[in-house]
Amino acid sequence: MTDPTTPPEPERIPLAGVIGWPVAHSRSPALHGHWLKRYGIAGHYVPLPVMPEHLGSVLHMLPKAGFVGANVTIPHKEAVLALADVVTDRAALIGAANTLIFRPDGRLHADNTDGHGFMANLRQNAPDWVPELGPAAIIGAGGAARAVVAALLETGVPEIRIANRTRLRADQLRAEFGARLVVHDWVQIGNMLDGAATVVNATSMGMTGRPPLRISLDALSPSALVTDLVYTPLDTPFLIDARSRGCRTVDGLGMLLHQAAPGFERWFGHRPEVDDELRRAVLA
Ligand code: NAP
Repeated sequence: MTDPTTPPEPERIPLAGVIGWPVAHSRSPALHGHWLKRYGIAGHYVPLPVMPEHLGSVLHMLPKAGFVGANVTIPHKEAVLALADVVTDRAALIGAANTLIFRPDGRLHADNTDGHGFMANLRQNAPDWVPELGPAAIIGAGGAARAVVAALLETGVPEIRIANRTRLRADQLRAEFGARLVVHDWVQIGNMLDGAATVVNATSMGMTGRPPLRISLDALSPSALVTDLVYTPLDTPFLIDARSRGCRTVDGLGMLLHQAAPGFERWFGHRPEVDDELRRAVLA
């Protein structure tokens, strides 16, 4: 029997946030804040600036302070795997997590939703895109490229061509993800695009303040779908060039929006919508 003198536990308002260092630039608080307001959910999502040496202790404390989960961004996406109790197969394969759930049993669950975000963005904005119909060409072999490779392979893409400035990183991806990956030299990128059905810039080139990706798109087929993971600016020089050659292009903002949806649903119990209203709220 409950002791009548014990005060009832106060109702908890679910909290979530994004853990990074630095984290002030993150668009995630605006994104989740928009959804919380739109669906009338009593909850909060906050930026959590956490230095690398404090990551373990912060993850230990957050559930005690009412947090139900968190997103993880640079530089913690890889380190968090070693601290999690349960790591999904896709997060293990990618070698990084971006979404954490603090489970009621006290266990820390780590997932990676970047691949989901990548696919959902293309499916929403290029509904007639059929990735299985031809090779994909990926420029870059960093953390984001790993998520894209995993997602495209799962979809059934017949071949993934990949080139990275530091070839070793692309070779490593080939060793981990297998024979459907074909590594091309950085100086041969132009040829790699020949006959590709899907072309992805997964480097940070073209971001505001950085030089554009300087590669020849002469071999690009106008039937190719071209996308950039960079979303500041929305229209990168790479996308503008591809569009001027008749290609359909999809910007990278939708990937950011879609990768956030599974976490929001798990933490706040509502599957959120990714639409123009959300895009406007995040860009504001
Ligand atoms: P990362 O792990 O640091 O990888 C950076 C990639 O860019 C590597 O392939 C790197 O090549 C390449 N690169 C950097 N400087 C270069 C240069 N001067 N010339 C040629 N290649 C260069 O970063 P990441 O996490 O993969 O992120 C990559 C980009 O995707 C970033 O702009 C990030 O903002 C964006 N992103 C977007 C989303 C989204 O939701 N839209 C999600 C994740 C990431 P090396 O290996 O040779 O250094």
